[in-house]
Amino acid sequence: MLKGAVPLRELHRLRDLLATDSGEAAYEIRFEQDEHRRALIHGSIRAELVVECQRCLGPLTVPVAAELSLVAVQGIGEARELEEMLEPLLVEQGLCQPLDLIEEELLLALPLIPLHAQGTCQPPPYRQEGETAKGVAQIPADEKRTNPFSALAEYKIPTKH
Ligand SMILES: [Zn+2]
Repeated sequence: MLKGAVPLRELHRLRDLLATDSGEAAYEIRFEQDEHRRALIHGSIRAELVVECQRCLGPLTVPVAAELSLVAVQGIGEARELEEMLEPLLVEQGLCQPLDLIEEELLLALPLIPLHAQGTCQPPPYRQEGETAKGVAQIPADEKRTNPFSALAEYKIPTKH
């Protein structure tokens, strides 16, 4: 039984997707052998991942509670023979990297486009300006000119041709 917590900043693929990497992922992993002498891996992973909301660009906490149920296989052929319930885990040279497992599960748990619940946040003003379809027409032209973010908006989101 492996039990512990891994700092998120040590999970390099995951870290790049987070707004802050200061948290930890707690895990519990059990190894067993089934009747076919295959290694089964059961476990759970708990973490709170903070990503950037794609609407307001503010921090958004994604709670993750993932359950693992894997069987270690030595090759694709062996993976094909598995019962449907079991997810194969390809093991190289009999070694399994628990950290990779944990990172993989956390990556899977992340939403593709993280957003706060509908109606609970607003795009920041400079975003609205760059967009043509949503609400831009409501911003008076003079207000637009004095917006301190307008230079940034033009730099980040080129809309005019
Ligand atoms: Zn938001």
